[in-house]
Amino acid sequence: MIEMFRNWLDRRAVARSDITPEEWRAAFAALPLLDGLDDDEQRRLRELVILFQHRKAFEGAHGMAVTREMALIIALQACLPVLELGLEAYDGWSAVIVYPSGFETHQVYVDEFGVEHIEQRDLDGEAWERGPVLLAWDEAVSAGERDGINLVIHEFAHKLDMQNGDANGFPPLHPDMDPKTWTDILSKGYDDFARRCDAGEDTGIDCYAAESPAEFFAVMSEVFFERPDLLVRHYPAVYAQLRRYYRQDPLARWQFDRPG
Ligand SMILES: [Zn+2]
Repeated sequence: MIEMFRNWLDRRAVARSDITPEEWRAAFAALPLLDGLDDDEQRRLRELVILFQHRKAFEGAHGMAVTREMALIIALQACLPVLELGLEAYDGWSAVIVYPSGFETHQVYVDEFGVEHIEQRDLDGEAWERGPVLLAWDEAVSAGERDGINLVIHEFAHKLDMQNGDANGFPPLHPDMDPKTWTDILSKGYDDFARRCDAGEDTGIDCYAAESPAEFFAVMSEVFFERPDLLVRHYPAVYAQLRRYYRQDPLARWQFDRPG
């Protein structure tokens, strides 16, 4: 009954959306990342975006006013990873906080001697467990360029990862996926990638992925959606696992809309 009611509310929200065709066109045109989605995928992505905007509050920080256009650019990128997973994958938190550009965060931690430290970090984005996603607008707006770097997908991949606790590179898998296979393949990929980064090798993939298994999952998700060719070239087994997890095949889209 609750499910039916929610479906009815969702259908009503989609039907009542005031996003104009021009606004949709401009936002899609600004995000080459979405090229290659077929008509049905585009329609379902638009519906997800409307519901995402319904369920999440966009808040500006440091004097930023989040416009409709900005919210659309962010929501389209945030919803692409859950196109086949459903918006429920983002349940349990409610806000996207948008900064004009990079911001500082202060994290308090206690060291082995019981002394409290405040660590200051400069960030373009952050995802809090059961809390908001923080994004720097100047990075979010240029993220959809299909260069393999996407701040929005990165932070939302952390959100997917956090559905079952700490971000650790192990999101809740589908029943038809084997957790051991996932762990083996991603761990092997992570170790190999860390070794190549240590050796100074340029794979075209951001070495930030070597920071931790959580960052490996988030960065490989960026590459999966934007430069699937790179991921397939270096880590075909990781690509195959992400394809099964996201239930999408961006490589097919990428080849599809490649000229010639
Ligand atoms: Zn990260």
